[in-house]
Amino acid sequence: MDSTLPVVSPNDFRSGFVALIGRPNVGKSTLLNQLVGSKVAITSPVAQTTRHRLRGILTTPGAQIVLLDTPGIHKPHHLLGERLVRSARTAIGEVDLVFLLLDGSQPPGGGDAFIVELLRQGGFAVQVAVNKSDQLDPDRRLAVAGQYRQLLDGPVAAPATATNPGQPWPLHLCSALTGEGTEALVKALSLALPLGPHLYPADAVTDQPEQLLLEELIREQVLHHTREEVPHSVAVRVERMEEDGPRLAVLATVVVERTSQKAIVIGKGGQMLRRIGEGARLSMQKLLDGPVYLELFVKVVPHWRRSPTRLAELGYNTD
Ligand code: GDP
Ligand code: MG
Repeated sequence: MDSTLPVVSPNDFRSGFVALIGRPNVGKSTLLNQLVGSKVAITSPVAQTTRHRLRGILTTPGAQIVLLDTPGIHKPHHLLGERLVRSARTAIGEVDLVFLLLDGSQPPGGGDAFIVELLRQGGFAVQVAVNKSDQLDPDRRLAVAGQYRQLLDGPVAAPATATNPGQPWPLHLCSALTGEGTEALVKALSLALPLGPHLYPADAVTDQPEQLLLEELIREQVLHHTREEVPHSVAVRVERMEEDGPRLAVLATVVVERTSQKAIVIGKGGQMLRRIGEGARLSMQKLLDGPVYLELFVKVVPHWRRSPTRLAELGYNTD
């Protein structure tokens, strides 16, 4: 028998949806990209860059894990913040398993306790990983794992439910950056899923429309190049995508809230916008594996984050 054949019989195959939950900046998007082995979620040193529920699909010989990259759960600040929290909560309710990611480079905080409490009350099946293990020397690892174990177990044990038998949640240590510990993690996630068939083709990495991925790549470059100056008031809309010979021609608008932000995004003599466009174009070419021509425009839409109509126009769920 050929030893490369899957060792798992079709009857033992597992599949399901996994909500990736965690405070902003713990490394959810980085881990998603690491696990799926292709760039499907944008990452940024600026917190709260994930606005859409991107799915990464990870297929192994024994399982198919469909990951939802949810925005970090946190206390809402304005309308957009509330939407993010709501969509994260909805995501938790729709999945087979919750995968909670924590940041090992920091001690547990109030934000973590808030999420843990939400999950304990919901009685979800939960797997936990402490990320950024590459920043911990061997001595610190045990201490940090102990601190997080304490946070998860809480003063009172979680009540047993149908989906959560009241066992302590499994705790893993990993690095989304180096990939350390991710193999064991994938195994644990797979075994925590119900038996079931492939939900997507075995070679799929995401079910998101291409246009949304391209918009996220442009937004990632805006955040990367402008940093603190234009933080969360940026949205991107791809207006047109056309095959132009061997190239894909993309026309997109970067939407900001204020004229001052427009000036920053464009930069002196258009320098900043050129850098953003070049970065985005290179990422797009990598994603699509072919040449891309990208044209960017910048538009001011005052207070788009507070207007339900504007949010809907820019693709954010307004129900
Ligand atoms: P998200 O908000 O949870 O999606 O976080 P991101 O994936 O956008 O990551 C936030 C920041 O943490 C980025 O600067 C990442 O490069 C960094 N980061 C993510 N995972 C790791 C890790 O395992 N080790 C280290 N050292 N940094 C990481
Ligand atoms: Mg993210």
